[in-house]
Amino acid sequence: MTNTTAELEKLLMQRSLTDSQLQAAAAAAADFRILPDATVIKIGGQSVIDRGRAAVYPLVDEIVAARKAHKLLIGTGAGTRARHLYSIAAGLNLPAGVLSQLGASVADQNATMLGTLLAKHGISAVDGAGLSAVPLYLAEVHAVIFSGMPPFKLWMRPAAEGVIPPYRTDAGCFLLAEQFGVKAMIYVKDENGLYTANPKTSKNATFIPKISVDEMKAKGLQDSILEFPVLDLLQAAHHVRQVQIINGLIPGNLTRALAGEHVGTIITAN
Ligand code: ADP
Ligand code: MG
Repeated sequence: MTNTTAELEKLLMQRSLTDSQLQAAAAAAADFRILPDATVIKIGGQSVIDRGRAAVYPLVDEIVAARKAHKLLIGTGAGTRARHLYSIAAGLNLPAGVLSQLGASVADQNATMLGTLLAKHGISAVDGAGLSAVPLYLAEVHAVIFSGMPPFKLWMRPAAEGVIPPYRTDAGCFLLAEQFGVKAMIYVKDENGLYTANPKTSKNATFIPKISVDEMKAKGLQDSILEFPVLDLLQAAHHVRQVQIINGLIPGNLTRALAGEHVGTIITAN
């Protein structure tokens, strides 16, 4: 046992687990990334998959080509069907934990469809993307599909107001990326990235190529293109310190973003 381990163990036996000296000792270990060569990409539910074949087929082709050079963890969003379920369930006064399970079932459906399209290329959809066989899939076929909703289910932390689960598929994909310590997190959506206002409803919205979380909050954009809790998760992250949002409806964008090019909006932790 090294001195640091002994010191940490002593603190762990005596202190509260959130004691600041204990936290510092626990954080002293060298950085470790579980899957440092992988990239997490999230394929949007409402923004991409709900558009059907016109949006999905070209992305499938890009994924198949890209996995020759990259290791891809591909998460799915939920989208319009989940919003429909949320409206019914909220109208019935059901709690966030129940809505979380309903949303997860839609992200699961999208993972099933994407997994089926990619099956002939040897790419599988997995139930839950906890480690299990994920490293093996990445090593052998360089890609795996997972359902993007975080598996909090009934234990979903409710928002301060309302019953909509605050941690949905943008958050689920980010949490996985950060825990695995992957090299990049890319959100594939239907706009070029972040604008000064929602481009679907504001004709004068201007594009923002790069912005920090604090700047986004200062401009009142915290609840816009990404689920708002992702911004706090990003600021607290150790590994994934920026994310890129790209327009997946433009062919070639995903390939370029995977190669490290700046093709959308990059949001930085600081
Ligand atoms: P997903 O299906 O990937 O979860 P969403 O539809 O939830 O995607 O979020 C992306 C959408 O966010 C865009 O299509 C756009 O209409 C909307 N949006 C709202 N505010 C902004 C903004 N300031 N900049 C860009 N997009 C915005
Ligand atoms: Mg969304």
